[in-house]
Amino acid sequence: MKIVQVSAEVAPYSKSGGLGDAVAALSKALAAAGHEVWTISPRYRGVAPDAEDTGLLARIPLGAWEHGARIFREDRDGVRHLFVGNGMYDRDGLYGDANGSFGDNHIRFALLAQAALHAARRFVGDDVVFHCHDWQGALLPAYLKAYWRPLGHFPRSGSVLTMHNPAHQGRLPPSLFVDLELPARWFTPWGLEFYGDLCLLKGGILHADQLTTVSPTFAREIVTPGGGFGLEEVIGLRAADLTGILNGVDPDEWSPTTDRHLPATYDAEDLTGKASCKAALQGELGLPVAPDTPLLVSVGRLDPQKGVELLADSVPWLAGEGCQVVVLGSAAAAHKTFEHRLIEAERAHKAQVRAWIGYDEALAHRLMAAADLFVMPSLFEPCGLTQMYAQAYGTPPVVRRTGGLADTVEECDPWTGTGTGFFFERPSGTALRDALWRGISLYRSDRDAFDLARKRGMRRDFSWGARVERFVEVYERAQAVRSG
Ligand code: ADP
Repeated sequence: MKIVQVSAEVAPYSKSGGLGDAVAALSKALAAAGHEVWTISPRYRGVAPDAEDTGLLARIPLGAWEHGARIFREDRDGVRHLFVGNGMYDRDGLYGDANGSFGDNHIRFALLAQAALHAARRFVGDDVVFHCHDWQGALLPAYLKAYWRPLGHFPRSGSVLTMHNPAHQGRLPPSLFVDLELPARWFTPWGLEFYGDLCLLKGGILHADQLTTVSPTFAREIVTPGGGFGLEEVIGLRAADLTGILNGVDPDEWSPTTDRHLPATYDAEDLTGKASCKAALQGELGLPVAPDTPLLVSVGRLDPQKGVELLADSVPWLAGEGCQVVVLGSAAAAHKTFEHRLIEAERAHKAQVRAWIGYDEALAHRLMAAADLFVMPSLFEPCGLTQMYAQAYGTPPVVRRTGGLADTVEECDPWTGTGTGFFFERPSGTALRDALWRGISLYRSDRDAFDLARKRGMRRDFSWGARVERFVEVYERAQAVRSG
């Protein structure tokens, strides 16, 4: 099968969160299963400097201009990665900077969708599955239907849209619709119009041949009131074509037995290396090197979605309980107060708390390995990857029972010898602290039982293996729609 992944992020080239990891790892797993896999993503500033110029320069009219999309290529892990070169991508930041989101994001990602179609026609052929991701990829099904299929191109090609996070919808003022160069009838409720606004994600939801989202629980939540962030009724119209498939983990990137970022490696048979990682990290961050002090970490975007409010509220309590806490993350311009609150907490509890503001891939790995508990109090979580990484690294996660967290963590019960983490339900600081308390108490009172929970997490299979088959089934359904 020939598959083209159309995404704003493909790790390691570009990544701001789980999207980049998920697209890269899925592509690699599909290629390993024998499929011909292409990705196409923007050539942001500094991305793939050595990629080869394919010679294709597509000219794409959008708004007042004809934009040039120069296509570059680099092969890696059996996947053919294409990059769209254009001055609009050559900026600091993927989607925005300190002043907020870029005002021309709709044009930047319209260009990505159209460039993907041009590149597929030149390099891949007519018989393709376009797998589009999130609102940035959601225009492709619209262009496919509005222009390419009526001209006789891609007659047997299907399109699939994966919603990694439908809270982000590309919802914009209606005046920007003209920039997209779609026929006027596409600005109706049947197309990209949503209560008078332009909504890029909606176009993809209605016009992709198949839809997926990133966990079975989230696939159910997304059609409940509020669960689709306003789009639940639109998604409900396509419920028969929606499949929930969990994201997986790429063991080449995230495995404590081989991780090149760690000072010591380890596995489920022998956790000695994990203790060394903890000591090294405590030393690195200037915390007391105390093997028996519970070390709690959190890694992720400092966004309301992630329950940062609950986390920030609980940090002083954790310090009072004698724990060490390290938070790695950064906030978008609108949520800088989260950074300030965490920095304040570090100031108030200098001997126990570290707030590392910024993005640091290697530190994220070292934290997963060093920690005793991973804290992820998300208010909603379509899938979430970090709680899976944490389990793979023997760090039981403390999570809210929602979306993909409910599907990937099991409540720890030392009496029956089951479970890999600790849940709470209500989105409140008290409920989070109750779950944290259960984790910390087990760590302090019965280290053997705690280590068994660590090991159960490490032995769980979060690989993409089984997921690949599920995606192939969805791709086949998308193509069947076209050939049927
Ligand atoms: P989301 O996609 O909602 O941001 P996920 O848990 O699915 O959340 O994925 C987050 C990914 O981004 C993980 O690979 C995590 O390690 C990484 N990440 C997020 N913030 C940071 C940061 N500040 N430094 C390093 N890695 C980060």
